Amino acid sequence: MPTSPATRVEISRSRLIGNFEFLRSLLPNNGSGKRGGASAASGDLLAVVKANAYGHGLSPCAPWLVQAGAKWLGITSVEEGVALRRLCPKVRILVMRGLMHGEVDALIDAQLAPTVWGLEQLEWLANTARKQDMALGSVPIHLEIDTGMTRQGIGLADLAKFLHALQGLPALRLAGVYTHFASADRLDAEQDRLQRNAFRQAVEQIFAAGFHPQWIHAGNSSTLLARRCEDLSGLMQTHDAKFLVRPGIALYGYAPAFSGAQSKTPETARATLRPVLAWKTAIASTRSVEAGTAVGYNATFVAPTAMRLALLPVGYADGLNRKLSSTNSCAGGHVLIHGAAAPIVGRVSMDLTVVDITHVPNAATGDEVVILGEQDGGGQAGKRVTADDHARWAGTIPYEILCAISARVPRVTSE
Ligand SMILES: *Cc1c(COP(=O)(O)O)cnc(C)c1O
Repeated sequence: MPTSPATRVEISRSRLIGNFEFLRSLLPNNGSGKRGGASAASGDLLAVVKANAYGHGLSPCAPWLVQAGAKWLGITSVEEGVALRRLCPKVRILVMRGLMHGEVDALIDAQLAPTVWGLEQLEWLANTARKQDMALGSVPIHLEIDTGMTRQGIGLADLAKFLHALQGLPALRLAGVYTHFASADRLDAEQDRLQRNAFRQAVEQIFAAGFHPQWIHAGNSSTLLARRCEDLSGLMQTHDAKFLVRPGIALYGYAPAFSGAQSKTPETARATLRPVLAWKTAIASTRSVEAGTAVGYNATFVAPTAMRLALLPVGYADGLNRKLSSTNSCAGGHVLIHGAAAPIVGRVSMDLTVVDITHVPNAATGDEVVILGEQDGGGQAGKRVTADDHARWAGTIPYEILCAISARVPRVTSE
């Protein structure tokens, strides 16, 4: 069931590429001139495009990132990887969710690099390599180390056993080693320090066992924005491996709120990012109501005075969070109409939402409504609503707001 024709998400090419280039400039040594220009970077980015590019659309985002110079893209499922391979035939693709039974054939067909840490996963890959008579070292794997997040990956205690098993499977090649930090946005977190130490130890153990992974990666948007890659990239240089950082949310113009910052560095970096996505619709109809009129499900809002209301053809089925609803005693979210904030009144319904336009007298049916993004104020200063605003209203994080914009909202591209 399509949404109303006026409802759409606009994805800005120049902003996505601008964010990508800015993040690349934050890599250690980049542009320091040691070996001249951008090529002096001791690392590279793995651009994370999982969850349909955080709701922005794998197409167009992935091909744009590749055009901007991305050499690595990260997604979460083999299914997404297969779709991504069709869009980007040459780029390196990492599947960041651990390999699952039954995924191996599609993975190998699409030339995706799997995340593995279990002996079973090694067996599935080795069996397929044997069946297909694949050459030595022709199946690249990325080993995830669980350095303390307790989600995916191998613990340090089991690493020796894993490496021993891998030595007996010559078709497989340990191409990458990585970890994921649980508290990268908590700049004073003891957990981050412990995870970094554990990762360093794991990498040393892997090289000492005679493996030479080409790619070592760790860190996300927060790690880059806070410029906390130096120690990690230094470690890789001693082993002649290439260091990768894996930003996701920052590519799309957002970042987690940092805590424990000693300096303004992360906040300054954050302010440079520009949201890539704008979510718009149009007024479906307007009406005036008298004081005492109940609005929406369960009459959670009753007009305290005469009001003018606009009906929007958007609801939680489009991904507009129901926690943006309001009651008489508790404000909810707002949208922009003619550059002014129009508060949501009553409950957000599945496909419809009502907003207050009492103070926007010239608002009329068909006028543009900005749910996320910027809008000119007709001469006055423009206003904006961000995924951070929605996240604050809904009690969640901008990641969830962006990923929740549902598939029925068409993604269109803009410059
Ligand atoms: C999602 C994800 C990232 C990107 O994280 P952001 O906070 O969006 O930058 C990096 N690495 C892994 C393993 C992830 O799952």
